[in-house]
Amino acid sequence: MAHANRDGPNPMTTKNPTSMTKDPICGMPVQEMTAVRAQRDGQTFYFCSEACRLKFLATPTGAIPEKKPGGCCG
Ligand SMILES: [Zn+2]
Repeated sequence: MAHANRDGPNPMTTKNPTSMTKDPICGMPVQEMTAVRAQRDGQTFYFCSEACRLKFLATPTGAIPEKKPGGCCG
């Protein structure tokens, strides 16, 4: 009896260094690989959650809201 399928972590994903960036909405550090992303003016922005992404998209260019206490993600 052969084990055809094995569930486990993919070794390929642990090879590359993980790029960290910052959520411009809440200031939380996020991983580029796993973050929610949005593009604007040829730039890619990364967010901790869809809520932050929507907030960013709803904000006019150049008017990024300042980080506020008690935001969406604490
Ligand atoms: Zn966020």
